[in-house]
Amino acid sequence: MLQVTDLQVSYGAITALSGLSFQIPAGAIVTLIGGNGAGKTTTLRTISGLLRPKAGRIVFDEEDITATPSHRIVARGLGHVPEGRMIFSNLTVAENLAMGAYLLHDTDLVQKNREYVFGVFPRLKERLKQMAGTLSGGEQQMLAIGRALMGSPKFLMLDEPSLGIAPRLISTIFEKIVEINREHGITILLVEQNANLALDVSSYAFVLETGRIAMQGESKHLRTDPRLKATYLGG
Ligand code: ATP
Repeated sequence: MLQVTDLQVSYGAITALSGLSFQIPAGAIVTLIGGNGAGKTTTLRTISGLLRPKAGRIVFDEEDITATPSHRIVARGLGHVPEGRMIFSNLTVAENLAMGAYLLHDTDLVQKNREYVFGVFPRLKERLKQMAGTLSGGEQQMLAIGRALMGSPKFLMLDEPSLGIAPRLISTIFEKIVEINREHGITILLVEQNANLALDVSSYAFVLETGRIAMQGESKHLRTDPRLKATYLGG
């Protein structure tokens, strides 16, 4: 479903991605793990069209999207839940969800997506009129995921969904990520610093180090890999 080939991205003189290549098949949950500054966020922002690569190619659903504007990429079914959630704090929950559907013109589909989001996150339905900035961290993450789901994605990229969230809610969010994949067939690319969690829910994993893939394999195998254990899984 997604093929990234030899991607190179720089911020001025700083090279963030240096020849990154990987593939994600339709229907999978795949995780990209790596330490601070490895290039995880840069990878997602480049796939979404928010950053332009110096070289390389991104193919999504059999179309080259390397130079496609980000709103067209969203319209093709690629959703992005950014790091830090980036919800609109001064808008209500309902208004934030409506923003996620701004590219859809079919009102029946928008209504269907709203019901779907309320099915996944009943808590959002209870808080429709609440200002998003007053939600807890976990609820804001639910809203950020819900907002992305409002755009009818086939493929969803999540950047550090566990960041700044109470441990009790982290497991809920991860259960929902699995539910979105299993019951709704949405392919998922999960970026996480919490490698244990990420390997639990994914079937395949890529380890990113200084802007390229250093290791990859089935998540269940990587869990027991001594190199990964020492560096990312807490020994
Ligand atoms: P983290 O988990 O800390 O967010 P990451 O794996 O997501 O890390 P990136 O944020 O993609 O890593 O950063 C990759 C590299 O690019 C780092 O060296 C970082 O300092 C650099 N970088 C990221 N954003 C910018 C920017 N706007 N300007 C300059 N350098 C940047």
